[in-house]
Amino acid sequence: MLLLGGTTEASAIARALAGDARFDLTLSFAGRTRAIVPPPVPYRVGGFGGAPGLAHTLRETGTDALVDATHPFAARISANAAVAAHEGGVRLLGVRRPPWRCVPGDRWHEVADMAEAARALGAAPRRVLLTVGQLDLLPFAAVPQHRYVVRSVDPPPAGLLPGADIIAARGPFAEDAERALLVDRRIDVIVTKNSGGTATAAKLIAARDLGLRVVMVDRPALPPVESVETAEAAVDWLIRHHDARTDRGV
Ligand code: NAP
Repeated sequence: MLLLGGTTEASAIARALAGDARFDLTLSFAGRTRAIVPPPVPYRVGGFGGAPGLAHTLRETGTDALVDATHPFAARISANAAVAAHEGGVRLLGVRRPPWRCVPGDRWHEVADMAEAARALGAAPRRVLLTVGQLDLLPFAAVPQHRYVVRSVDPPPAGLLPGADIIAARGPFAEDAERALLVDRRIDVIVTKNSGGTATAAKLIAARDLGLRVVMVDRPALPPVESVETAEAAVDWLIRHHDARTDRGV
């Protein structure tokens, strides 16, 4: 089984199946972050070489189940997974956590992409918390009138956003700490991807409490594949898949 990861769900699935003799599991990371937290299962790092490369890997390794537990904004690998699994006749399960929903009290401005998010900040200078990942910062360099605080797992490339304050941190983040961050840094507006999940949701609660604007970037379209919402449901699916194969004597 090949598990495409880089998310809390993938790590949870790996933890749940580690040491389970029914599964021969490899966890795959893209290698975007400098320090990988070593999982308790065998893992590999780096791209496959597009859908053909992934199809080749599935064949070479005799993989019979592919789990796409990548981030909801990792659209390319999810598209490749759908193509490669289809071509190779490999069962594919997507783990698609639900998006965050706007609730009363929120001041969200929903936008389609990062360029629109940068424009949504407006002409007047703002103090902006950017939690969009270090690879999606370029559009904000085009609106340099704002003061940026960038929080990402690894610091962004030097010089990308001159003058930005950098906080290198990996979630989960607690609500009190998020509130303190927003107050201490006198943040006016947060920009975030609609990642969903609990690990990074506390900033939205803190923003609601403080009456701050949130520019929320909508998710890209993903291929329509069989999917579940949680790591627990994915583990159940894999056990069912395994039992069905055993019953068929495969
Ligand atoms: P992406 O744009 O969909 O993928 C770009 C390329 O990176 C893919 O074509 C593939 O290269 C390689 N790749 C992506 N995920 C991989 C994986 N799990 N194992 C091996 N290769 C992988 O992805 P992305 O948005 O750059 O995200 C990269 C990784 O970071 C993913 O694992 C994702 O779960 C994680 N992540 C992303 C975000 C985000 O906001 N995008 C946030 C948190 C975590 P080849 O075509 O050469 O196979």
